Amino acid sequence: MSDPWSAALFRETLQLIAEGVTELVGFEVAAVSVVGDDGRLEVIAVAGSEDCRDQLLGHRTPIADIQAEISNSEAWGALRFVPHERMGIDTENLGWIPDIEVSDDPDAWHPLDLLLAPFYGEDGQLRGIMSMDVPTDGKRPRPETRRQLQKYVEQAGRAVIAAHDRARLAEQVRLAETAREVIRRASAENTLEGVFDYVQKALVEGFNARGLWIRTFHDIATPGSDRLFSSQGDQVSLPPALAALGKEAAEKLWALQEVVVVSPEHRPDLLTVEEHADVVGFLKGLGVDSMVFAPLGAGQRCLGNFGLTRTAGQGDWTETEKRAALDIGHDLGRTLLTTQNLERERRLNEELRTLDSYKSQLIATVSHELRNPLTAVAGYLEILADDDGLSERALRSIASMTRGVGRMSSLVDDLLTLSRVADPSIQPRTEPVDLRSVVEDVLDLAGPTCAQKDLTIHFAEPTLPVQALAERDDVDRVVANLVSNAMKYSPSGTEIDLDVFIEDGEAVLRVADHGIGISEADQRDLFREFYRTANPEALREQGTGLGLAIVQRIVERHHGHIEVQSTLGKGTTFTVRLPRVRGGEGAAASPGTAPAEETILPSQRDS
Ligand code: ADP
Repeated sequence: MSDPWSAALFRETLQLIAEGVTELVGFEVAAVSVVGDDGRLEVIAVAGSEDCRDQLLGHRTPIADIQAEISNSEAWGALRFVPHERMGIDTENLGWIPDIEVSDDPDAWHPLDLLLAPFYGEDGQLRGIMSMDVPTDGKRPRPETRRQLQKYVEQAGRAVIAAHDRARLAEQVRLAETAREVIRRASAENTLEGVFDYVQKALVEGFNARGLWIRTFHDIATPGSDRLFSSQGDQVSLPPALAALGKEAAEKLWALQEVVVVSPEHRPDLLTVEEHADVVGFLKGLGVDSMVFAPLGAGQRCLGNFGLTRTAGQGDWTETEKRAALDIGHDLGRTLLTTQNLERERRLNEELRTLDSYKSQLIATVSHELRNPLTAVAGYLEILADDDGLSERALRSIASMTRGVGRMSSLVDDLLTLSRVADPSIQPRTEPVDLRSVVEDVLDLAGPTCAQKDLTIHFAEPTLPVQALAERDDVDRVVANLVSNAMKYSPSGTEIDLDVFIEDGEAVLRVADHGIGISEADQRDLFREFYRTANPEALREQGTGLGLAIVQRIVERHHGHIEVQSTLGKGTTFTVRLPRVRGGEGAAASPGTAPAEETILPSQRDS
């Protein structure tokens, strides 16, 4: 009994019952024994002389000896009487023999007569006994005495069974808590090392074990290899023969859904005498005497095994503990699979990231290498074009070569920009950037194209700044790309609307055109590198398919957001949201609301 208070109370109750038997029924000695962890009956309460108490208290008898006597006894209700002539037990094992005369009277009590009452649990297992010796009248008990005795025996029986059930319940609760702890800790970890580090302590404590090792077969991380996790203190190194034996045994046990105990006294059927000797020798080498060996797995698959060890002083493994070990084998098996899947996913992710960074490096290197020769070619073409003596045809060729070099240069520039903005190791150098001034600059440059294509751009410039926290060049590129696309994919004579404002605490840019629009299918892939829509109207325009990929990477690296709304044939609106500079400066309200000065915007109320 784990809790000392209930243990003391239990002994006291049994002591009182035993004393009742000696004082009120008329025996010199009454003793109560219970089955202990070691599977023997231990005397825990004795009423009788001091000498007899000294000798009997704590005395242990193997259950098998008592059971042999019971099977040989006369049944008197709940009592069992073994007349001395039938006694088979070795007198050495009796603990105490009364010093009384042997009489010829067949009704007289003989010093080796045995009178006891066995107590059985619901499962039919012996839990304890109460034994009586030396009737005060010197006679073998008559029916009247037996009836009286019966009452005390029943009380003692109830106390022993209840205490046993309570102890088993407490053990079940403790082990269930251990299992819960294992699951809780294991699911918080996502590497095998982490999982086993955490569960070891819980298992060793919960099972009152000396040590633990967990072995996993066929580790996914390093295929073909096993991994062994042992608790601190017991650094286990398994000899190959034992490792193979353990694996075979675990697989058999998983199929049977069983665990086994191995100790010098216990040889499970699945071990030969030699194998048993090897395992016991191995345990001895670890400084332990017994182990409960359990498989761990999930579904049909046995994934490993674990061994919980104890020294002789820590007692035997109970049925409840063995069942709990099997349950934990299931829990650990499931955790193992989940963790291995997580590890595999992480590894794949790492590989993909490496591949991605390799691709970015390749693009950056190639673009750098192309840039210098292109600059040189462009320079020579310029010199050539200045030559007055060239024919019309030669001049046309030079002009077309210059356009080609221009396109290549802008592709190289886009590639270099893309590799820079997609590189997570390069962080933007943010500062407050007023979107109004960025739009102004872009519109200045767009002016000639607008005029050429007869496009009208409306920019409802707010009176107050719209400050984004961003790298100025990046924002410049975002606005320029979106405005240039709007111009590129709009027929002449149409209008483009530009807005900048603050909404929900963010600085927002909106570019809306009334151009060719983008189909829903194309909208899904719009931001992918080199993506150009299938729309022939769009393909008539020159482009690399990198502009929107760059815009999206820039927005993402600023922790912003971009979205597109478009209807084919009607027009497209891109909305970019960037983190806003927080502070005392004024802000522009979203279009359509009253001027910012008089308005408390949601974002302002929040901050
Ligand atoms: P590019 O314009 O160089 O082809 P982008 O990445 O800027 O590359 O754009 C990808 C594709 O998205 C374009 O090819 C075009 O089909 C489509 N697109 C972009 N902006 C618009 C727009 N405002 N209107 C219609 N289609 C557009």
